[in-house]
Amino acid sequence: MNIQTIIKMLTDAGIEEREAKKEVKMLLEHFCNYTEKDEVLRHPITDEHIRILKTKVEARLADRTPVQYIIGESYFMGEFFKVTSDVLIPRPETELLVTKAIELIKDNDLKNILDIGTGSGCIACTIAKRTNSLVLGVDISSDALRIALDNVTRLGINNRAVFRKSDLYSKIRADEKFDMIISNPPYIPIGTELEPELKHEPSIALFAEENGLQLYRKIVLQAPDYLNEGGWLIFELGIGESDAVKAFMNEYFEEVNVIKDFNGIDRIIYGRLI
Ligand code: GLN
Repeated sequence: MNIQTIIKMLTDAGIEEREAKKEVKMLLEHFCNYTEKDEVLRHPITDEHIRILKTKVEARLADRTPVQYIIGESYFMGEFFKVTSDVLIPRPETELLVTKAIELIKDNDLKNILDIGTGSGCIACTIAKRTNSLVLGVDISSDALRIALDNVTRLGINNRAVFRKSDLYSKIRADEKFDMIISNPPYIPIGTELEPELKHEPSIALFAEENGLQLYRKIVLQAPDYLNEGGWLIFELGIGESDAVKAFMNEYFEEVNVIKDFNGIDRIIYGRLI
């Protein structure tokens, strides 16, 4: 048995070769401490490494657990975030959201940011780490908030990203105002058939009523109450949702813009309070 056999276990189970190779690399690095540097230096992959990989791949395939949950970490914008099945695994699309948000924060010198549905805290922590702003992350799930707190400690930004249990704005005081509200809300229409890996992620983080639009509608509706003058609202979008979300936003926001992702899908929407 060698590394090719391990990759084949994954591809035989229907996982794309590129993804399979990436996963094996992640497992090697995490469980065997075998990094890209070892690969470049052509350090041998030992029988012990293979034995470990086999066990992990078997666990991965037994019930299609995403590799990030097996490792307990997920890479996002240059950092490794703790993840468990209590939180959504950060996605590459969300890196686009955070990159645009950071640009707006820096260009407009924004100070107070609210991240709604913070989950693992990947958005809140990255913004706090890379800008001078203060971020409040809220989530309805106490289990998710525990993970977000671990991540803030990991990144060493404890005093600049803080968390609170809140169902959307329910625990935000009337006198708390923000320069930006950011959210990657659950946006998959209820009833959508999903690949087996996604069934391990919390359904509360994935699905929304009203054809996936409910949380956008609710967040937009109350955003003016919690934004400073000229404040920004920025969302990640689900597939095919940009027109509907734009219609919600047009009511209270101007300069509403949409950005496409690497697959040409409308993925980010943002605007400024009128
Ligand atoms: N804010 C987290 C993320 O973007 C969680 C989002 C969610 O659970 N819908 O990954």
